[in-house]
Amino acid sequence: MSSKEHTLVISPIGDFDADGELLHYVGKELRNLFGYETGILPLIEEKDLWLDPVRKQYHSTPILETLALLSPPEAVKVVAITRVDLFIPILTHVYGEAQLGGKACILSTYRFREALPFTAGKEAFHYRLVKEAVHELGHTFNLRHCRDSACVMHYCRSVEEVDGKSKQFCRYCTVLLKDEMKRLAKEPVSSKQ
Ligand SMILES: [Zn+2]
Ligand SMILES: [Zn+2]
Repeated sequence: MSSKEHTLVISPIGDFDADGELLHYVGKELRNLFGYETGILPLIEEKDLWLDPVRKQYHSTPILETLALLSPPEAVKVVAITRVDLFIPILTHVYGEAQLGGKACILSTYRFREALPFTAGKEAFHYRLVKEAVHELGHTFNLRHCRDSACVMHYCRSVEEVDGKSKQFCRYCTVLLKDEMKRLAKEPVSSKQ
């Protein structure tokens, strides 16, 4: 399934040097789950994000549009990671957002440290982020939310619910994902938006 032409681009927004292993860990997990090569490529700077002056948060939808425009031709999908708090207008906040069946998705680390046991290491935080990255990427492969509470495509309103699901797709979602990946493999990457 993997080829040079189909790379999952992980795009950090802002400085992740202090937690550099996070990007590599997410990359490794995504490579294992989706079977594509992964690469790290910054496309947007944190200072270029638009801060909503009233909400003091960042609207994720326009960021996705910019990411899709800037994504290199070899990118089958782009998954951005940011530390800023994201929202869409109908919700108080989002853990991430994706273009359904599109090119780009984003996740925020902002709320994933909530309610971690005091003794929890970095791993528990990183594991939540992997699940969120897989979930949002699933949407870019046209997957909708799943009723199976253990499936990574299950919609979570809290970090506790995130902790309760796995990083894996259920059998039903796996079939849909594989079909979409097959379809994408047949079409030239650059024509897909
Ligand atoms: Zn979702
Ligand atoms: Zn599922």
